[in-house]
Amino acid sequence: MYEEATVTTLASTPTKRRTTVKTSSGSTLVVPARDLFPANPPILEAADDLTKLSYLNEPSILHDLRLRYASDDVYTRAGPVLIAVNPFKRLHGTLYGPDVMRAHGHGASGASGAAATPPHVYATAAAAYRDMMASKKNQAVVVSGESGAGKTETTKIAMRYLASVGGGDGGGIERRVLQTNPILEAFGNAKTLRNDNSSRFGKLIDIAFDGAGKIKGASVRTYLLEKSRVTHQAEGERGYHVFYQLCAGASAAEREAWGVPEAPGFFSYLSSSSVVAVAGVDDAKAYLETKRALAEVGASEDEISEIFKTVAAVLWLGNVHFDEDATRADGAAAAAVTAAGAPALATAAKLLGVDANLLERALTTRKIHAGGESIVSVLNAASACEGRDALAKAIFAALFDSIVASVNEALGSSGGDRGGGRAAATSVSILDIYGFEYFQKNSFEQLCINYANERLQQQFNKHMFKLEQEEYEREGIDWTKVDFEDNQACVDVIERRPMGILSLLDEQCAFPKATDDTFAQKMATELSSDAKYARDKRNERVFKVSHYAGEVSYDVDGFLDKNRDAIHPDLMSALMASSEDFVCTLAELMTSAKAAETDRAGGLRAARAKGGAGKESVGARFKTQLSALVAKLDACAPHFIRCVKPNSALAPSRFDDALVLNQLRCCGVLDVVRIARQGYPTRYAQRDFAERFGFLLPSAARAPFGDAATDIVPFCHAILQHFDVKDASYQFGKTKLFLRAGQIGMMEDQRARK
Ligand code: ATP
Ligand code: MG
Repeated sequence: MYEEATVTTLASTPTKRRTTVKTSSGSTLVVPARDLFPANPPILEAADDLTKLSYLNEPSILHDLRLRYASDDVYTRAGPVLIAVNPFKRLHGTLYGPDVMRAHGHGASGASGAAATPPHVYATAAAAYRDMMASKKNQAVVVSGESGAGKTETTKIAMRYLASVGGGDGGGIERRVLQTNPILEAFGNAKTLRNDNSSRFGKLIDIAFDGAGKIKGASVRTYLLEKSRVTHQAEGERGYHVFYQLCAGASAAEREAWGVPEAPGFFSYLSSSSVVAVAGVDDAKAYLETKRALAEVGASEDEISEIFKTVAAVLWLGNVHFDEDATRADGAAAAAVTAAGAPALATAAKLLGVDANLLERALTTRKIHAGGESIVSVLNAASACEGRDALAKAIFAALFDSIVASVNEALGSSGGDRGGGRAAATSVSILDIYGFEYFQKNSFEQLCINYANERLQQQFNKHMFKLEQEEYEREGIDWTKVDFEDNQACVDVIERRPMGILSLLDEQCAFPKATDDTFAQKMATELSSDAKYARDKRNERVFKVSHYAGEVSYDVDGFLDKNRDAIHPDLMSALMASSEDFVCTLAELMTSAKAAETDRAGGLRAARAKGGAGKESVGARFKTQLSALVAKLDACAPHFIRCVKPNSALAPSRFDDALVLNQLRCCGVLDVVRIARQGYPTRYAQRDFAERFGFLLPSAARAPFGDAATDIVPFCHAILQHFDVKDASYQFGKTKLFLRAGQIGMMEDQRARK
């Protein structure tokens, strides 16, 4: 990594390229010139905007963020982007208190607005709100970063700000909007090794405002819930919070009715990891809070009961164990429910409102229709377990979707402040979506997540360039287009038709005989000439994709099943035959082609109407969702927040340079800085520049301009000449002076010495 140092002996000639330096820790080193980066003058240290730095190199950026972090200044700008470094400690009063919120105005803090207030999530939210009110254009706040970086907390802080600015008496729609958070977190967040409250889905929340700037309603859209967590967790992790909340908090009557034990470990689905409790979390209390939040968004007591009863059913399904049936005369491997599994089967069936025998048959046999006849074949125990797990995951995912749909119904613009709608609503959307992921072993989920990041990165880069270009054009600066690394090739290798990774996967999924291996082979044949794809030389089941943030190896294990995400028709029919309306609704959601598309109010009904249609693959559906998301963002004025995790220990006051640098690279902050560096990153209003540096001119040079120096441009020229700034290093715009990176540092140094 980098260390601060002072040059003691400079490399003097091109042949003598090594320089002697003394580091801040006191050692003397001889280093090659390419390993040295100029530091910024002290006046620019801990600048609140990285683009204010004269030298925009990596060590300077890190140094700036580290210094700020040490004094609890966790927010820093990188031009139009807000960087938020997770403090990992409560800074409520000082950082988010009512005074701070007030300081960020209620959207009325003058024309200079965001630029005048220090960097803060409130400032970004305020800018979005203010721009929306001024331009009547929809705004989007895109929050990204890796797991544990603080996206969800940041999203909530932004929502609280918007609820406060756009709320009325504090009890209406804005309260319901905020209640979506505990609900979605209970059902979609879990403890992982990276974050005790990790969101296992992406979400976009739209908050709609009327013409007077008051909240009219809201809607939530979710992306790709991690289903595998329902049935299995890695050691040290947990399943979804709601499972533990139910076990810890159920009332005596509920325990009796749904068969809920106190120890989560009783359920097989919660015992693949030994972790039960999370430090600082009271699951019993959280259970009541989840219920209260559901009630606040309009769920009746019966509806709330149905939800938790379904959660219990999912858990009980996991305890339905199978053995091979030893009593069969034909000796075929046939699954039979174990003795211990029998009561679990009975309980799960009761909770789901289906006949236990029917459920057992659906889990252990397959009806196949061939030539007008239907043949029943037996399943072995392993296949029965797979079917059971697929069923549990599908029920939980449908439950999640149905909750999102009811939340949307409750927040629907028509349901809220009816009186407020004087004009067509405009909205601020906030996107809280998973950042780039790369683990030891990466699977289909990581491919989808990284694909989403490629698309969002592309959108981000386009926007950044556009802003930069607009500023140059406004100021009449000669802007010869700077090249930027386009990630289109990587987007293509994933989504191209018919020869992209997702299309090839869909094609394989349509072949009954295809396997993960045939998929791997197919890619190897069809994509071998693609620069962004490579097959692992040692392992045929592993392929690599060159993402903008680095190369990731994916293991094809499970790709076909995860993409098909199919539930056998026999299991579906068993659910459809349920005596419980709620379960039937969930079953309809599962078969729906657009199950995940839980749009605004009425989303559930819309999904239901389409029930029974051919089911889209997970990859294809995700691609459609992403395209819609990007199109939506393109139609909004975007604001970007990049969250950064300063250390892997999730501890306060620790700043790991290498970890931070990598994240800045992955989330595009280094790109922003690079874009700036390639242009003219230092900008001064010409008068400010004259005032700041004019006094450094010798009096003879200053004399022609008089005291007032009204002739600003020639005066600035004289200053630049005095400092020996080369012609190629600056340009005059209509009101500003633009300088290349590095110029201002030298001038500030001289100024400081005066
Ligand atoms: P994931 O992708 O896993 O969902 P995330 O980026 O959403 O991660 P958060 O859940 O928002 O991460 O944050 C992780 C933890 O970091 C929080 O539970 C909280 O303890 C801490 N944290 C995040 N932001 C802040 C903040 N602004 N102030 C104090 N603590 C914070
Ligand atoms: Mg999160």
